[in-house]
Amino acid sequence: MNKNKNTMKTPKFNTYWIYAMIVLFFASTYFIGGNETSNSSKKINISSFERFLNKGEIKGVTVINKNIAQVTLNRDALNSPDHKSANSTNFLGQKNLNGPHYVFEIGNLELFQNKLEEAEKKGIQFNYDFKTVENKFLDYVLGFLPLIILIGLWFFFMRRMSGGGGGGGSQIFSIGKSKAKLFDEKSDVKTTFKDVAGLEGAKEEVQEIVDFLKNPTKYTKLGGKIPKGALLIGLPGTGKTLLAKAVAGEAKVPFFSLSGSDFVEMFVGVGASRVRDLFKQAKEKSPSIIFIDEIDAIGRARGKSNMTGGNDERENTLNQLLTEMDGFGTNTNVIVVAATNRADVLDKALMRAGRFDRQIYVDLPDVRERKEIFNVHLKPIKISKNLDTDFLAKQTPGFSGADIANVCNEAALIAARKLKKSVNKQDFLDAVDRIVGGLEKKNKIITETEKKTIAFHEAGHATVSWMLEHAAPLVKVTIVPRGQSLGAAWYLPEERQIVKTEQILDEMCAALGGRAAEKVMFNNISTGALSDLEKVTKQARSMVTVYGLNDKIGNLTYYDSTGQNDYSFTKPYSDVTAEVIDKEISNIIETQYQRAIKLLKKHKSKLIELANFLLEKEVIFKEDLVRIYGERPFDIKTAIKESKSLK
Ligand code: ADP
Ligand code: ZN
Repeated sequence: MNKNKNTMKTPKFNTYWIYAMIVLFFASTYFIGGNETSNSSKKINISSFERFLNKGEIKGVTVINKNIAQVTLNRDALNSPDHKSANSTNFLGQKNLNGPHYVFEIGNLELFQNKLEEAEKKGIQFNYDFKTVENKFLDYVLGFLPLIILIGLWFFFMRRMSGGGGGGGSQIFSIGKSKAKLFDEKSDVKTTFKDVAGLEGAKEEVQEIVDFLKNPTKYTKLGGKIPKGALLIGLPGTGKTLLAKAVAGEAKVPFFSLSGSDFVEMFVGVGASRVRDLFKQAKEKSPSIIFIDEIDAIGRARGKSNMTGGNDERENTLNQLLTEMDGFGTNTNVIVVAATNRADVLDKALMRAGRFDRQIYVDLPDVRERKEIFNVHLKPIKISKNLDTDFLAKQTPGFSGADIANVCNEAALIAARKLKKSVNKQDFLDAVDRIVGGLEKKNKIITETEKKTIAFHEAGHATVSWMLEHAAPLVKVTIVPRGQSLGAAWYLPEERQIVKTEQILDEMCAALGGRAAEKVMFNNISTGALSDLEKVTKQARSMVTVYGLNDKIGNLTYYDSTGQNDYSFTKPYSDVTAEVIDKEISNIIETQYQRAIKLLKKHKSKLIELANFLLEKEVIFKEDLVRIYGERPFDIKTAIKESKSLK
């Protein structure tokens, strides 16, 4: 902890000093540069000059650097009203008698000199002079130009990085300040548990935090310590921020929200000083909640992959965070809630008692929860009367809460574009497709044969997964090109914690079903199976090297959960083992490929029926598969099995 003390003073020096330099530099260029143009001569054009010349009003002309002429008037002319503007007083109230009174660009030097000569011939008298003014300053600036541009760019990016709304110009000077957004009773964002659908378990766990904040004495009286932190672990969009906000809303306390990356800046010490500032603010408003999203940006385990040397700043920030959390007294009443989707990479020190000792898992919603989330987000939308939320929930496997919120919004936009009075089922389905696959590519050019290949490929996936007990049940198949993909088969992923060997194998077989169908139908395979192959290869590799599911390699793993070893350069096994691994991986894949081919050959006529139906409709659902293949026997069987295993 002592280590921090030294670094604490550095930020001000580094950051403010550099900024001050830049400001000074630009300011000085402005003022010095200003001298060049700040004399009081008035700009005229060459024809006015000729007029003055011929009237004999000019005392002298000085040509500077062959392109600018400075003109001085004679006394008589100065007193004439014509030249009043040139003869103005300067800011000290002095008259400018010595000139130059006018300047102009001479254009072609030769022509200009001819004019002067003509005037001389006419007997007009004036002085004529040539001067070369070395613009030392300009040279100086030009010499530094690359540096200036560099500093300018850097300055620009720093501002961009520290950007994100907020205080405009004053931002430069608040670099060491925390960038947390504050939601309190004044801001009218009121989130409560009612806005959080599903997540029952997580809500129950955070309920305790709400209690603590509302009524701390109830716990401290009995000698209990108030928790200082909770860590919400879950994929992006699953509602972690929402949940933390709801905690604040329920407890009616201020809520400071920021992201872990907000701490990180290129300057030394900024992160730590932001942490300090954040906790200072939070304590002033206590009881309060600090919410740090993406804590892994600063909370990654220390002392790893230190090759770059760029981690010191992050470590200082993390140390400061730990120090602040340790420094809370029992009556500080500030609770830190952090969110991450990578709990495995976090520094163990963060999880220790007295810090983020509560870890709450926020999972992707299941069908029932998805329905609830739909209900929350459908409230502000004008939906058609017979919209079936059960159906919507079933069509969105793997969607997070944020995805669902997005679907609802997108559906409303789609309906509005079609000038509809309410949003109906089809709009929602379109929205789902759009969010999963990207924009429909109606005008993507696909030949008839390509389309046929795609249809059989997708029908192959559908058929194989239908026939295999452990493959995930199908939701829908489409051959409408979207984003990068030309077609897709969607499955309802089973929610399971442990995956059995046969489950992985069945899934691999289904993934290879696309390519197998091409082989069976056309005896020809295409490049369209790249992502299938990638997925299958990864699965096979992890079966062998991670999960110890292969006989030849045996019950060992080459996985390192601490991440301390980088196996991308050095392999933790011998060359002989590497050969065995490669062979086993390709064995596994080949076996499943042959299995898929066998299955499809057996059901070839139905495969053709399905593919043709798909070609006609472009999108087909589970119901259509049931019509062609009959009800999937395993769906009934597994239901019975599962209910038995629960007993
Ligand atoms: P995270 O912090 O986990 O990335 P957010 O809390 O920012 O996710 O969620 C983004 C949005 O998704 C929320 O503002 C909300 O509209 C929606 N959302 C996510 N989960 C839920 C949920 N369980 N109930 C209702 N809305 C949700
Ligand atoms: Zn495929």
